[in-house]
Amino acid sequence: NVSAPTTSSPSPDKLLGGLLSAAFDESSCQSRYRSNLYRKPSPFRLSPYLAQKLRKYEAYHKKCGPGTKRYRRAVKQLKAGRNADHSDCKYVVWFPCNGLGNRMLTIASTFLYALLTDRVLLMHVAPEQQGLFCEPFPGSSWVLPGDFPENNPHKLHIGAAESYANMLKGGGVRNDDPGSVAAASLPPYVYLHVEQFQLKLSDNVFCDEDQVVLGKFNWMLLKSDSYFAPALFLTPMFEKELARMFPQKEAVFHHLGRYLFHPTNRVWGIISRYYEAYLARVDEKIGFQIRIFPEKPIKFENMYDQLMRCIREQRLLPELAGAAEPANHTAGAGKVKAVLIASLYSGYYEKIRGMYYESPTRNGEVVAVFQPSHEEQQQYTSNEHNQKALAEIYLLSYCDKIAMSAWSTFGYVAYSFAGVRPWILLRPDWDKEVSAVACVRSASVEPCLHSPPQLGCRARRDVDVAAVKPYVRHCEDVRFGIKLF
Ligand code: GDP
Repeated sequence: NVSAPTTSSPSPDKLLGGLLSAAFDESSCQSRYRSNLYRKPSPFRLSPYLAQKLRKYEAYHKKCGPGTKRYRRAVKQLKAGRNADHSDCKYVVWFPCNGLGNRMLTIASTFLYALLTDRVLLMHVAPEQQGLFCEPFPGSSWVLPGDFPENNPHKLHIGAAESYANMLKGGGVRNDDPGSVAAASLPPYVYLHVEQFQLKLSDNVFCDEDQVVLGKFNWMLLKSDSYFAPALFLTPMFEKELARMFPQKEAVFHHLGRYLFHPTNRVWGIISRYYEAYLARVDEKIGFQIRIFPEKPIKFENMYDQLMRCIREQRLLPELAGAAEPANHTAGAGKVKAVLIASLYSGYYEKIRGMYYESPTRNGEVVAVFQPSHEEQQQYTSNEHNQKALAEIYLLSYCDKIAMSAWSTFGYVAYSFAGVRPWILLRPDWDKEVSAVACVRSASVEPCLHSPPQLGCRARRDVDVAAVKPYVRHCEDVRFGIKLF
């Protein structure tokens, strides 16, 4: 779905003030232009520098992407086992890990990394992810061609000999004098393993000396389970550039996510049909995302009670009138509030809908409760399941208010797209079944990085990043995690 530019350019509003490229055919990916019409305008200003940087990146991607002479040449070098000295094009290849929310966060982090290090982002698209997203870069593709020689995701793990940390350990690469490392002396590719390990980002490579060495590899393969964008803000050599790109640091995923991710027309069909049928004409939309993690199960009654406490305390929904109470319909008469529930289970929907079906509200507002699907089981490898998951992330992102389960990257993506600070339903302490506090408001619209990198890198001191960087905070839901703010 890569097409020639349209004859009449879309208006700047349609292109989100310059965030989106004008060089696409609208009909090939309708969501790119229509999705934002379902939302209030973004509260975050786009820096013209970021817009410029994206246009430059698009030109670079087109020059070096799949199907080009330069791409073929780079693959040839890789196959020959060589890391060429002066290469026009450098690449970072993203490999998938975990569910869709996690993947969207790591794709955006990898793209930011590509922008900062002049690499072309390519994606290994597994069958379950095919047909979900439109191409984001005009006149080219971000899909890694099937005949790419290092296309085996199973080779990429913490113990892989090609991992940067293992190269360092084995003495194949040194980082003590990065300036002197000759590109031609390096292996043909490096694997960067950015997964969490004992609540820290493993490999600890967000340091200048490592980034200088890593920058000399023409090919980088990367796999991550973490939203590592905040770690790039902690790498001194990227600091200045990031400040120009993101004067408002809490809008990193908000902008990059809105730039990169556009559901294909097929998924957009699901989203827009649902939106037009149930959400388009209501006065206010409230999203509840309830995620129960298999590794930390919470009883239905406990989770439901917590959600109700949060709703009451934060006045998210109108109160019910008592049986003998006279109606006082002055405030809310005729107003409709839609509740959109995203959950693998139907129980929350049944109970909340039943509540507003059986009793009137005190102020006369009407509450309509909807849940697009209840898949019961999470299925990382089903394409159809992922289409629904993506549709629900988008539908949630059209809500005016969002309450979500702690720890869920699915919820992080939705509120960050929306640009809405959510209420987070906290997890009970490890030895408790019920959380004492029902929910807290997030300080920012950025996703949380659950496992921060070590600051100071080789210094081996464990510095609390949130204490020394004014733009970093601990997450409300993951105490040791960090988020930009
Ligand atoms: P996280 O595990 O909550 O951080 O989010 P991920 O998106 O990475 O993984 C959870 C996966 O479970 C999703 O991608 C979906 O496949 C599925 N899932 C979880 N909650 C929902 C939901 O409310 N609706 C749908 N359709 N799928 C869900």
